[in-house]
Amino acid sequence: MNIVLFGPPGSGKGTQATYIVNSKKLTHISTGDIFRKNISQNTKLGQLASDFMNKGQLVPDQLTIDLLETEIDTYKNSNGFIFDGFPRTLPQAEAFDKFLDTKNMSLDKIISLEVSEDELVARLLKRGLDSGRKDDQNSDIIRNRIKVYESQTSILKTYYVENLKDKFFTINGERTIDVITKDILDILLKD
Ligand code: AMP
Repeated sequence: MNIVLFGPPGSGKGTQATYIVNSKKLTHISTGDIFRKNISQNTKLGQLASDFMNKGQLVPDQLTIDLLETEIDTYKNSNGFIFDGFPRTLPQAEAFDKFLDTKNMSLDKIISLEVSEDELVARLLKRGLDSGRKDDQNSDIIRNRIKVYESQTSILKTYYVENLKDKFFTINGERTIDVITKDILDILLKD
């Protein structure tokens, strides 16, 4: 089973992915987490990514696509994946489809978490205090990330509705974590 958790920064993708991964025994792939790990280890990739991330911009597509493909290839015996924060642009989604085809894999469900902008900003500022994430500590950078989501990422909803109609689901992400997890698990049980 391969799932994409889709939604703006702060919509709860990472939180939900953790719960779903535990209950479904899937592999969680968060491109943001992989970039942050590279930054903390001061790798070449981390150095390339950090400027973009600190400004709230997207890391260039080819770098992100290569990283994602390499990551998938490291899990040869996975039951399936939850993709959290990927794809984020049309070129990423198209490259992803081609890559999955070459692996005889496909996406089973795309679940979009919907949260209003004011709630996102409040959540991210709070997360910045708790986690120390640089890109969560400044409301201009946060608003920029939400703008980037609106201009470059949200169009993927149309892409997936057109390409994978019955597999695209929208969820109200402004409810308690456990209610949302239950909704997601229910969606995963559907044919
Ligand atoms: P996230 O942890 O998903 O909120 O991602 C944090 C930051 O990592 C984003 O603001 C981007 O700078 C970068 N990033 C993560 N995933 C992607 C992606 N699929 N494409 C481009 N940049 C990404």
